[in-house]
Amino acid sequence: MRDRICRLAVLVVLVPFAAVVAGCGSDDSGSSGSGKQLVVGTTVAPITSIAANIGGDKVKITGIVPEGTNSHTFEPKPSVAELMAGLDVLFVNGLKLEEPTKELAEENLSDDAEIVEVGTKSIPESEYAYDFSFPKSGGKPNPHLWTDPKYALKYAEIMRDTFSERDPDNADYFRGNYDKFKVKVDEFDKAMRTSFATLPRAKRKLLTYHDAYAYFAKDYGWDVIGAIQVSDFEDPTPKEVAGLIDQVKETNVPAIFGSEVFPSPVLKQIGKEAKVKYVDVLRDDDLPGEPGDDEHSWMGLMHFDYVTMTESLGGDASALKAFKPGNVAPDKAEYPQ
Ligand SMILES: [Zn+2]
Repeated sequence: MRDRICRLAVLVVLVPFAAVVAGCGSDDSGSSGSGKQLVVGTTVAPITSIAANIGGDKVKITGIVPEGTNSHTFEPKPSVAELMAGLDVLFVNGLKLEEPTKELAEENLSDDAEIVEVGTKSIPESEYAYDFSFPKSGGKPNPHLWTDPKYALKYAEIMRDTFSERDPDNADYFRGNYDKFKVKVDEFDKAMRTSFATLPRAKRKLLTYHDAYAYFAKDYGWDVIGAIQVSDFEDPTPKEVAGLIDQVKETNVPAIFGSEVFPSPVLKQIGKEAKVKYVDVLRDDDLPGEPGDDEHSWMGLMHFDYVTMTESLGGDASALKAFKPGNVAPDKAEYPQ
């Protein structure tokens, strides 16, 4: 309300601009609007990056889950409560990925703040994937919607609408960023499809350590033949490992994929015994490069993974490599490391 009164004062009294800024205070956002800058929290880095592409320099965004940690078992420190108390919006993925963070938020968000579950809002429950590391019996669906550009775009759309509703003065800016983001995601999607088409359908098979590609596989004509990591994020039993070695031999895949966040001697052993390449660099929520780099973005992350998969399985990734991933707006977000 104070801000609205301030804005009225600007319109009616027409005091010099500098005096207005000094008088109303608290707006150090570089925002062209006269409202207070939106303060937003996010959980995993890909969500932070998508939010930054839409919010640009008009929204203050702070990530909560440090990059390189296991986001599936992450519990925020009690000190995060302080950050939460100052938020207007907390974006979480949902699909039960961040329950401890959500709980802390529910206790600490102010009355007019909200939690927005961008994943949960992007897909009907009937389309949830339950699979290797996320069996139905565990009650937690596979949460990795963002590795599929279709859903990342949906996240961006929800963020655009959330920002615009809370900061209507900057709605055009958010819409413009979303439109640019959509153009870039569509180009990325085309490059992905061109590169994947160089792999025969029968070769588009993924055996991964971390089970992060279920939705992507469905939309891009890949098969996830297995994921090593069991639902409690421990290693599989020797019997399960023996079964996986047989499966890798049978399917004739040239490579299997580990994840740099989850170094796994077991996957290495499977690769060695089944005599296939073991590629241990995939990432599902740890962005490549450093904050501020172009590749340190949701798009840079997925670009890295899809080039790696295509080349490791014997395909030609030149279409993907000709595409330069990056942000469509300045990324001022804070990424805890
Ligand atoms: Zn994950």
